Amino acid sequence: MDKSAKPAPQITNFIKNRIEEDLKKDKSLKIKTRFPPEPNGYLHIGHAKSICLNFGLAETYAGATCNLRFDDTNPTKEDMEYVEAIEEDIKWLGYHWDGEIRYASQYFDFLYESAFKLIKKDLAYVCELSPEKIRETRGTLTEAGEESPFRKRSVEENLKLFAQMKEGFFEEGKAVLRAKIDMASGNINLRDPVLYRVLKKEHHQTGDTWCIYPMYDFAHALSDAYEEITHSLCTLEFADHRPLYNWCVENVETKGKPEQIEFSRLELSYTVTSKRKLKELVDSKTVNGWDDPRLLTIKGLRRRGYTRDSIKNFCETVGISKKNTVIDMSILEEAVRDDLNEKALRKMTVMNPLKVILTNYPKDKKEILAAPNHPQREELGKRDLPFSRVLYIEQDDYMENPPKDYFRLSEGQEVRLRYAYVIKCEKAVKDPVTGQVVELHCTYDEKTLGQKPEGRKVQGIIHWLSEDNTKNAEVRLYDRLFTVENPSKEEAYLDFINPDSFSLCSNALVEKSLEQSDEQTKFQFERLGYFSFDQDSTKERLVFNKTVSLKDTWKKG
Ligand code: ATP
Ligand code: MG
Repeated sequence: MDKSAKPAPQITNFIKNRIEEDLKKDKSLKIKTRFPPEPNGYLHIGHAKSICLNFGLAETYAGATCNLRFDDTNPTKEDMEYVEAIEEDIKWLGYHWDGEIRYASQYFDFLYESAFKLIKKDLAYVCELSPEKIRETRGTLTEAGEESPFRKRSVEENLKLFAQMKEGFFEEGKAVLRAKIDMASGNINLRDPVLYRVLKKEHHQTGDTWCIYPMYDFAHALSDAYEEITHSLCTLEFADHRPLYNWCVENVETKGKPEQIEFSRLELSYTVTSKRKLKELVDSKTVNGWDDPRLLTIKGLRRRGYTRDSIKNFCETVGISKKNTVIDMSILEEAVRDDLNEKALRKMTVMNPLKVILTNYPKDKKEILAAPNHPQREELGKRDLPFSRVLYIEQDDYMENPPKDYFRLSEGQEVRLRYAYVIKCEKAVKDPVTGQVVELHCTYDEKTLGQKPEGRKVQGIIHWLSEDNTKNAEVRLYDRLFTVENPSKEEAYLDFINPDSFSLCSNALVEKSLEQSDEQTKFQFERLGYFSFDQDSTKERLVFNKTVSLKDTWKKG
């Protein structure tokens, strides 16, 4: 594999400090973390942060492991498509989970027995209030909730009714199992939260075995405990759920006693990272699927040309903290730029070709010029560049009426062809109908190969391709998906899509050697940016995606 691949980043943060304290107290402790995605969408950059943290910790400590567990307790929104995509993404990031993949649904029997245990301890009851009524009687931040009239049911009655729930006696919304905690608690999550509900839905793992499904808090805490996870890391919004998490673990008296620790969610500017919103973008066809290169899904980033190292380095850079902040998109872009700078093959590509004829270059002459080595890694730059009488340059590199500070071609002006000769534009040939410049007639100066032109100052250097070293290509260009910094704040966030987030160069020319491209090979198209091979390529027509520009073009000021 890639020789320059960096080792996994070593994360230093408050979670690591906490783990190290725990290890000091108990030398035989084996750290066990888990990554618990809900299979209701594709993974995004926020998940990558959690993946790097959890799997990263497992790589850091001797004997430590990390489980992959699908939190599949809500069959209405889940799908096997998501399960498979998530597995693939974690593997692509280069991480390995401990043993087999786990599913919370594998613990449905254990969870059911745990609920039974709580009922027997008179810590849970079957409540027949409607979902609306339960919501209404929950109280507010300043007022206590009201106790359910079903709260005083006997243990025997609750055991019988809960078994009936499982047997399908109750329709959806007609009965739930609630924890009996405290309707006056200052923490609303402790006001007799629902533990189980009736859902007459097929499940992608368990089929029609179950018609009752555990709620997230209950299932999550007990799945962690069942797997004997030592440190259960989750995002800050779960801090208020921690008392309920601990209540479940303590009262079910599980062997494992996981400790929940919260860290900040990763949010980035000019994009959305909520699976619900990403799904809306996909379903409304605002983007072309979950792997659209404008999305910060792992699949989108990968298709865009992001490397796994760039994503890991980015997650390391943003770090783990207790404070939610929105990270500027330029930090992510910088991470991929840094990584690709050390990995990308240098190539010439002409996005919008303009034909150049060197009128004083012999018709049958062909030269092979050498592109220089890359300063750190020779093979990234080194290659043969055929040179001939007919060349292509970028339309942008010629101007009919240039401003004073324009150092590229116009009639009478000179420019250097990168790694080749200095040429002078003698005449621009126009299409008689459209008046557009279709061809430049230039002369070259034989003495300027690798030499300064005598007595003249040539400032501009442009890229080019010889006629016989081209292959047709389509180059897809991307920009930020939203026009506002924080689209999640907007109710109608879909109204803020950047209309220029996608554009196409359909007649580009690339170096012939790019025929041999694959997804792993990354390119720097000289002067243009970093690019990556797209799966839509065919033999006749190569397709490339722009990953990122060479410099930050969004920088303010
Ligand atoms: P979303 O809000 O995008 O739907 P989620 O939290 O519902 O995300 P899960 O599948 O439940 O998605 O997440 C799996 C794990 O990834 C959880 O531990 C969650 O805390 C973590 N995670 C999700 N989003 C982020 C984020 N933006 N930053 C850091 N961690 C995240
Ligand atoms: Mg979730």
